[in-house]
Amino acid sequence: MATPRQPFTFGRRSLLAALGAGAGSLLATQLPYASVRGQMRTIGYPFTLGVASGDPLPDGVVLWTRLAPNPLVEDGSGGIGGDSVPVQWQVATDEGMRNVVQSGTVIATPQFAYSVHVEVSGLLPARVYHYRFTAVGAESPVGRTKTAPALGDRPDRLRFAFASCQHYEQGLYTAYQRMAGEDLDLVAFLGDYIYEGGVTPGNAPRKHNGPEIISLADYRNRYAQYKLDPHLQAAHAAFPWIVTPDDHEVENNYANDVPQDPAEMSAFLTRRAAAYQAYWEHLPLRASSLPMGPNAQFYRRLIFGDLADFSILDTRQYRSDQPCGDGIKPLCTEALDPNGTMTGPQQESWLLYNLASSRARWNVIAQQTIMASLQTRNAGGMNVYGLDSWGGYPAARTRILSTLDAIGTANAVVITGDIHANFAADLKLNFDDPNSRTVGVEFVGTSISSGGTGSDANPVFENARNQNPWVRYHNNRRGYVRCDLSRDVWRADYRTVAFVNQPDAPAITAASWAVERGQPGLKPA
Ligand code: FE
Ligand code: CA
Repeated sequence: MATPRQPFTFGRRSLLAALGAGAGSLLATQLPYASVRGQMRTIGYPFTLGVASGDPLPDGVVLWTRLAPNPLVEDGSGGIGGDSVPVQWQVATDEGMRNVVQSGTVIATPQFAYSVHVEVSGLLPARVYHYRFTAVGAESPVGRTKTAPALGDRPDRLRFAFASCQHYEQGLYTAYQRMAGEDLDLVAFLGDYIYEGGVTPGNAPRKHNGPEIISLADYRNRYAQYKLDPHLQAAHAAFPWIVTPDDHEVENNYANDVPQDPAEMSAFLTRRAAAYQAYWEHLPLRASSLPMGPNAQFYRRLIFGDLADFSILDTRQYRSDQPCGDGIKPLCTEALDPNGTMTGPQQESWLLYNLASSRARWNVIAQQTIMASLQTRNAGGMNVYGLDSWGGYPAARTRILSTLDAIGTANAVVITGDIHANFAADLKLNFDDPNSRTVGVEFVGTSISSGGTGSDANPVFENARNQNPWVRYHNNRRGYVRCDLSRDVWRADYRTVAFVNQPDAPAITAASWAVERGQPGLKPA
């Protein structure tokens, strides 16, 4: 349990930290501007939520910001109100923004909470660029991004970090403070960017701004609250991100159109539509991921030369309902249903096609819940499984793992979030037979902050360690996983922070694991 700390306020103090010295006068200044219809208005500094970039291609990247001079105003508008606002953007080769190579103007509209998504193209592959926005007479912070290598390139190296689960009230974002100081090409975020619930006052290291969120305005303000954090802003400004949602971007453990609470069934798709819209509005996603009502295309493939091929999954929107009533339970017959699915049939075919057609050295499945079997024992001595993760969908898991085996997909690596703890596991063709072939590996990254400071090991799992011989490593601290891919070795460093209830914990490498090309299975690095 985290020890209580001084309440953290994300108001002026952290805004100043985010904006840098000299921003104070801007905050105090009301900026006059002419809106699209020519009306004069005055507002405060609009770039309070920072800048971001994402989904790098060889010739471009998405640039993101949202105008929010009053980011937590109750109506979710960010405090502009009314008319659309022109926003200028610039891309330069230097941090000082002197050598501008592209620029343009987009219109921020109230329909999308004055968010801006610029899909820049025509850039050079594998290059670092810097970018900035200007609106209502104010300049945003300068962000740094990087394009992907050209499809025909043979890169020697790709460095990225992956992260998940940033429950705001449960801990500080020190992991992002440390991640922002790394030398990375990319960040992958695997779900639980926000948490939708209310919180018990007094049981949190940071203040919370309200009860469970349902409406679009509430979802928008939850994102705004999280994105005011200076360390989260710094990590977004430092690297392009690839993001995919899990459950808490909408509701805990929802499955497709089935909410956790059956009483909410009739209104659930309306809620999902609001949640997906706010997700898209606040992240550097392409227009191809723009929700149409309650549906959104979040699964996608991103390729980094012949070195890494990422299939980024959406395991919530199309899954069958958790079997056996969800929870951590023995498998009932429903769990063995061959029609059980995490991805839906269309996404599954797409994934299996990607795995069969890839020519990359490393084939990455970026997704949400733990794929390796994780057995623990209940009070009655029975084996129990987390039914919200792949443990509740063994037929779907077998279809993927047997495909990896049958088609001989090279060097498959699953990267995972959700469980708020670090694991490294060999993926067995048949988890009921620990001697069966290893067909890939899984790196499970811990949370950024969810669960609070944590401990070196979770006793529930430690007691079950000998039941899960394919799990080679476990740790229950907060942090992220840093991956360094070369042509012959994938090295994963489990970066952890010792505490998140006080600021400024250093990051350490708690463990390092490696995979060698052509030899499925983990090796200590
Ligand atoms: Fe989580
Ligand atoms: Ca989750």
